[in-house]
Amino acid sequence: MRKMSKCENKIIVAIDGYSSCGKSTIAKALAKHAHATYVDTGAMYRAIALYVLVESRKSKVEKLSEEEIVALLPEINVGFVRVGDAQHVTLNGEDVEGQIRTLEVGNRASEISQIKEVRAFLVAQQQAMGANQSIVMDGRDIGTVVFPKADLKLFLTARPEVRAQRRYDELVAKGEKPVYEEVLADVNDRDYRDTHRAESPLRQAEDAIVVDNSDMTPDEQMKVIYDLYDRLQ
Ligand code: C5P
Repeated sequence: MRKMSKCENKIIVAIDGYSSCGKSTIAKALAKHAHATYVDTGAMYRAIALYVLVESRKSKVEKLSEEEIVALLPEINVGFVRVGDAQHVTLNGEDVEGQIRTLEVGNRASEISQIKEVRAFLVAQQQAMGANQSIVMDGRDIGTVVFPKADLKLFLTARPEVRAQRRYDELVAKGEKPVYEEVLADVNDRDYRDTHRAESPLRQAEDAIVVDNSDMTPDEQMKVIYDLYDRLQ
């Protein structure tokens, strides 16, 4: 990892890890602490998945082939828009934040993220976002592929049962009626797909710092992370 000097004005923090281990909450808080822009790359994969889902419904097929999905990429524009304090993902200019956080879109995102061309399409945009500004970016391949020279790399993890419970609670809070065993199976499936895919599988960068937050309170976890960031100089 590159040692950042406080007089340098741009800093890149890469946060990778398994699904539902609180990456986005941590990344958002750290971005605020660091006066940096937060980028949720999972939301970008989810936005493409949503587009693909809508197109497959229009064509009345259950799933589009890989070639069909790649052919759609030139008509897809993923971006972000600030809404108050939050950042929402946009799909061809439309705010789709409210449509991408479902199990269905999450599963499709995990599938389409295995396609090489989809990854190349989004990685190029993610690298461009970090070219001129400080960012805290979370995802699966940020420290390994998108920003291998990031100033700080964190790899977050938590036990699958703990992550499934958190995901279950989030879905209940949104008014959905999930079944815990299904949520746990989904967490395990997604872990398997994320770590076994041929293209940029989820893995810990050699110079990443591992944070297992299974038994940490949110405050304890943020203290650990702020301390790691504050030590960069
Ligand atoms: O982080 P989130 O659960 O929103 O991401 C949705 C899916 O997108 C993940 O399951 C993962 O397969 C994929 N993803 C990825 N690379 C990233 C971010 C997300 O493959 N950088």
